[in-house]
Amino acid sequence: MSDGVMIVGEVVDGGLHPTVRQLVNAAGQIGESSEVTLCLAVDGAFDGGCLEGIGVGKVVLLEHPDAGSDGIGGVYSLLTELVCEVVGRLEPTVVLVGKTDAGSVVSARLAARMGAGLASDCIDLALNSHGRVAVTRPVHGGSALAVYEFAGEGLQVVSVRPGAFEVAQSVAGTPDVERIDMSSVSASGAVPVLVETVVEESEGVPLEQADVVVSGGRGLGGPEPFDQLRELCGLLGAALGASRAACDAGWVDHNHQVGLTGKSISPTTYITVGISGASQHMAGCSSARNIVAIDKDREANIFSHARYGVVGDWAKVLPAFTAAVAELE
Ligand SMILES: Cc1cc2nc3c(=O)[nH]c(=O)nc-3n(C[C@H](O)[C@H](O)[C@H](O)COP(=O)(O)OP(=O)(O)OC[C@H]3O[C@@H](n4cnc5c(N)ncnc54)[C@H](O)[C@@H]3O)c2cc1C
Repeated sequence: MSDGVMIVGEVVDGGLHPTVRQLVNAAGQIGESSEVTLCLAVDGAFDGGCLEGIGVGKVVLLEHPDAGSDGIGGVYSLLTELVCEVVGRLEPTVVLVGKTDAGSVVSARLAARMGAGLASDCIDLALNSHGRVAVTRPVHGGSALAVYEFAGEGLQVVSVRPGAFEVAQSVAGTPDVERIDMSSVSASGAVPVLVETVVEESEGVPLEQADVVVSGGRGLGGPEPFDQLRELCGLLGAALGASRAACDAGWVDHNHQVGLTGKSISPTTYITVGISGASQHMAGCSSARNIVAIDKDREANIFSHARYGVVGDWAKVLPAFTAAVAELE
């Protein structure tokens, strides 16, 4: 088996899925960028313009006429075949996949086919003293983090939680690109067919890509205060988030939920208002660089994670904070 880390990336509407640049960062934890190969299943329409500055040693384009259609996005049977084929050819030591819908299916099928180990939903990666991958993943409903290491010598397949790593910055130059004609590969067995795709509606900046997120929790007491959070979001160019308690109460849609059973985010600044900082919430924002918390309970767990904290009633603190931000505009 040769050395090297392979990223299985996804292409959406001719561009890179947001997880791809996060996976590039994740790969940097366990290998030199020059040893990293990014594989993408593409059809003839893919022009490769989005690959500039991607920061990997090599890109392999798995060309298949159906790669751009719903047939690949929906059920992943063809994508699995393409990935298994290229892994067999390139023999990487580690395959990194985003834990998206497609990535969850493909990583599990790849590991089963190759007799490889699979670590899923990982939020951190490192190499152990034997050069094998050690992963960190939330366990027990997000109330603890566990570190696992791959034993033995075989292929290591790792799915990475979207949002767990920051998006890699662009670097100078374009990587070597190899195109492999995969048109002879077909999905085998009973292939399910994608019937419909429902695009999730979201207001404002998408949570997973936002540099600033403002989230509200049960402490807001109802849906109306979320309008004040939206106002602050508008001033900061931020995305609106929420705790599960606020979403379960119907104050804000579940697609705003941050946490173990919601979305993982990695903004530079995360502002929480009336959120206690339960472990399941923190599981979704552990890679936020700076947490700013507003809560009336000085013992709230959120303050043990926050860089800046204000102990007080949000109804007094938030308008003053928003007014101060507005003055800076
Ligand atoms: C399997 C599982 C998965 C879960 N997944 C998630 C998840 O993905 N995301 C998630 O968020 N939770 C999740 N939870 C729920 C989680 O355990 C907490 O119950 C939830 O995060 C609490 O939300 P909260 O912080 O808004 O509410 P609370 O814990 O009730 O905190 C409210 C906070 O508001 C403060 N407050 C009250 N009034 C004011 C005021 N006037 N001014 C300022 N502060 C005030 C309080 O002091 C308190 O700190 C999960 C739970 C389980 C069991």
